[in-house]
Amino acid sequence: MRAPRPRTEVRRLPEKAVTDLAVLYAILDEALVAHVGIADGEQPFVMPCGYARSGDRLLLHGSTGSRLFRALGSGAAACVTVTLLDGLVVATSLFESSMHYRSAVVIGAGVSLTGGEKREALDCLSDHLLPGRRADARPPNRRELAATSVVALPIEEWSVKVSDAAPEYVEDDAGWTPWAGVVPLRLQPGPPVTERGGPPPSYVKSWHA
Ligand SMILES: Cc1cc2nc3c(=O)[nH]c(=O)nc-3n(C[C@H](O)[C@H](O)[C@H](O)COP(=O)(O)OP(=O)(O)OC[C@H]3O[C@@H](n4cnc5c(N)ncnc54)[C@H](O)[C@@H]3O)c2cc1C
Repeated sequence: MRAPRPRTEVRRLPEKAVTDLAVLYAILDEALVAHVGIADGEQPFVMPCGYARSGDRLLLHGSTGSRLFRALGSGAAACVTVTLLDGLVVATSLFESSMHYRSAVVIGAGVSLTGGEKREALDCLSDHLLPGRRADARPPNRRELAATSVVALPIEEWSVKVSDAAPEYVEDDAGWTPWAGVVPLRLQPGPPVTERGGPPPSYVKSWHA
């Protein structure tokens, strides 16, 4: 648990706020995609990115030519949002219909990683996004490393919101009897599709299993 900080204190539906660090880490370790927001002058931009968590840092990697990574690498204020969509909540009214989710927001400024730290971070990203693959894959060469920016963002100022309640039945719903409930949603790896080589290695098959 931790004391809320003003910028990340959940105000709207605060009963959905979770302050347990373990829940934050579980969300970050399950999801694969973060939406990363920066302001380019007056205009905010939010870009989807693969990411990984290493201890109390979020790791992001991208092209050195990317506006997003140039900004992140120079310490721009950033907001990273990770969302796990768990279900569609189908209530009696459209107003009460919603979604089940677990979402995390981390704000702060990143630092650009170099040398051994950068290589370790890339290993960590690979292990999160493609577990088991690093032992088989060709490692990045000098040109690829030079073309890749790696940024670490401290997980210091953050919030988590979890929505998992049953659909609300409110007074005005009286007399209305359509089906109501929750349709679970899940991101599920499908069976691997071979493009090259023999049968998929066991670690790839295990993603599907
Ligand atoms: C899949 C999904 C679908 C959603 N759909 C809708 C929708 O259609 N309409 C709608 O109004 N809201 C929706 N929400 C909730 C939305 O994310 C906001 O929580 C809500 O709109 C309140 O915004 P606010 O700026 O008033 O929050 P505030 O409570 O004022 O935000 C204060 C701080 O709380 C934290 N915070 C707020 N929301 C979240 C969050 N979701 N996860 C983690 N930290 C958070 C942030 O650190 C933020 O800076 C959805 C959320 C998810 C994950």
